[in-house]
Amino acid sequence: MKKGKKLYEGKAKIIFASTDKNLVIQHFKDDATAFNNQKKANIEGKGILNNRISEHILSALKDANIENHLIKRLNMREQLIDLVEIIPIEFIVRNIVTGSLTKRLNIEDGTKLNRPLIEFCYKNDGLGDPLVAKEHIYAFEWASEKEIDYITEQCMRINDFLLGMFKGIGIKLVDFKIEFGKRKSDGKIILADEISPDTCRLWDAETDKKLDKDRFRKDLGEIIEGYQEVARRLGILHEQTNNIRPIKFPKPIEVKIKKK
Ligand code: UDP
Repeated sequence: MKKGKKLYEGKAKIIFASTDKNLVIQHFKDDATAFNNQKKANIEGKGILNNRISEHILSALKDANIENHLIKRLNMREQLIDLVEIIPIEFIVRNIVTGSLTKRLNIEDGTKLNRPLIEFCYKNDGLGDPLVAKEHIYAFEWASEKEIDYITEQCMRINDFLLGMFKGIGIKLVDFKIEFGKRKSDGKIILADEISPDTCRLWDAETDKKLDKDRFRKDLGEIIEGYQEVARRLGILHEQTNNIRPIKFPKPIEVKIKKK
């Protein structure tokens, strides 16, 4: 699959055209941003890990009949995906209260929710992705009522699936953000973007140690190690590929052979 011109560059990913008009190439960068772009960093190897983790999760979802944009991973940083028109809403699914919700409603961090909570945020960096009601989505025609009902149902199915998947590897799925789009080829609404430690909160089940982007947001250090731990538990990273940083070989020693 040949890479065409750059179509769009976001904070952590770039979208390139492909030779098929209905497919595009999604490239994962090492760039990380937080707090509406105020905090920025380059985390070496993050893009490679997110590409692999998102591929793993989206393939598993596809096997469970949850349609999404993934066609196949192409290389270390890129995957071939369906071209979609993204619905300008971030769908946040929460199982445990943390992050912005603790402050907004003054709820204790770590409170378990009896049922998953779905929130809608309008995708707009200039406004800081504000929380909106379903009625805003309908009033401004960002999506129809029928579409939101379908997406909400998909969010619950995805949450059920991911909760089980992470539980099996000793990880609590605290919350996550997903995006949906209309597939160009047939107009169907499908899961798009990515699912990775950049977009989920993942806590070790025993210690509550954070294994996700909060390590960057909260300056906890060992960011890449957290992502690697998720990949390792998912069975993606094997021992020999554990070191994703380029190996620096020492300069060859010059050996002078004396002529006799
Ligand atoms: N999230 C995301 N992108 C965003 C905002 C949130 O991936 O632009 C994810 C975030 O990683 C977390 C969940 O959505 O898993 C809920 O985030 P919250 O609203 O608590 O965000 P905060 O403001 O605390 O970062």
